[in-house]
Amino acid sequence: MAKDKKLVQSENCNGCGICVTVCPTNIKLGKAEDFNVDTAKLAITVSNGAAVIDSNACIACGICSKNCPVGSLAIVPI
Ligand code: SF4
Ligand code: SF4
Repeated sequence: MAKDKKLVQSENCNGCGICVTVCPTNIKLGKAEDFNVDTAKLAITVSNGAAVIDSNACIACGICSKNCPVGSLAIVPI
């Protein structure tokens, strides 16, 4: 099913990493026996102090945006 919304990020991100830990896509991948943090197609990661979204892996569920302490993430229509 085609996605009609997507996750976007603003400049507010402080790199806390909460979004990375609450993301259900990341959690599912993390349960794999052969999970490798360097190669897994995580939906959201933190790099150089800021969250980085992989729009291919992200299912736009919005859980990360609800948990971001600084309101850096938002779900928007495509
Ligand atoms: S997007 Fe929000 S929850 Fe994710 S690292 Fe940035 S500040 Fe933290
Ligand atoms: S919107 Fe959902 S799938 Fe996408 S990064 Fe956030 S928690 Fe993960």
